[in-house]
Amino acid sequence: MVFSSFHPLKRHFLLLLLLAWLLSGPMELLAQDQATEEMVWTEGIVPPRGTEPEPFELEEMSALSVSALRKRLAELLPDLQPQGRRNLFEQLKEWRPDWFEHWEDRELFPDSTRIDTMPQTLRFVVLEEGEQLIYPWYGEELTWGYGPRNGHMHKGWDTHLEVGDTVVSLMNGVVRYAKFNHSGYGNCVMVRHFNGLETLYGHLDRIDVQQGDLVAAGEPLGLGGSTGKSSGPHLHFEVRYGGFALDPALIMEWTEEGPVSKTSILEIDKSQLSPQKGGENYHQPHTVKSKTHRVRSGETLSSIARKYKTTISKLKKLNRLRNADYIRLGQRLRVR
Ligand SMILES: [Zn+2]
Repeated sequence: MVFSSFHPLKRHFLLLLLLAWLLSGPMELLAQDQATEEMVWTEGIVPPRGTEPEPFELEEMSALSVSALRKRLAELLPDLQPQGRRNLFEQLKEWRPDWFEHWEDRELFPDSTRIDTMPQTLRFVVLEEGEQLIYPWYGEELTWGYGPRNGHMHKGWDTHLEVGDTVVSLMNGVVRYAKFNHSGYGNCVMVRHFNGLETLYGHLDRIDVQQGDLVAAGEPLGLGGSTGKSSGPHLHFEVRYGGFALDPALIMEWTEEGPVSKTSILEIDKSQLSPQKGGENYHQPHTVKSKTHRVRSGETLSSIARKYKTTISKLKKLNRLRNADYIRLGQRLRVR
């Protein structure tokens, strides 16, 4: 026996190495097979389920009203395979050219749209029947909201995350921009939604989509990170119309369980759009101030929640507790 002269721990290590080497061959072949079958599906995307729509279904859809088309897309998208999505994207460009105005990936905020040519009141059907809104990252708290910050305008929401956390699309839509942005957003994805709004996801560690990819609400766009002008891992999220930012709080409400949809119809005065198109080229360093508490005799989750002016639900989420009654004496709990 060749290994017998080795220390038992070393022997295990060598056996593991051998096993890894033996497995790496077939795994590589498997990965190559999948890659040639579907080139556009980058890793990290949820594998599509279900069946392809028949070609006649696409024909039928050309006659649908905007609202019926959105309902149909909401049913179809999650189950649609990559080739079906590509076909549908090509069809949508023909059926609804209005959805693809200023469709380019050179600029995050195309110069050609102007606020003075927009109607005074802007109306959006944010969610059509059957559509849903899923926050891109459940972030424990809103680190920074929309509004002025240290003399600059912060045009979105910041939520803390760990590098590698999956960031998903807020609503159904088509990826318009997916690349590194030099004005501060770092790896950045912009999704054009069927309601006319666009959403931006900044400072990503990795981008898993490309321009023209149809995405359903909740489908991965990439992994969170700290690229661009950012001092720590977080998601910078924006809602835009025609390149102009609007407060995400107009469509979403921040609740204990994270943001949820606030309204299916949004009507705003165009003065509620940020007057300048520019992006975020400035990021005030911020850190998430976490704080822990050591459980003492007689304390309960609710007494600790009261002490730190937080809620049981937040404590459970922060500490990944499934059962609120189950905390131990001396246990260290994150309270912030
Ligand atoms: Zn930000």
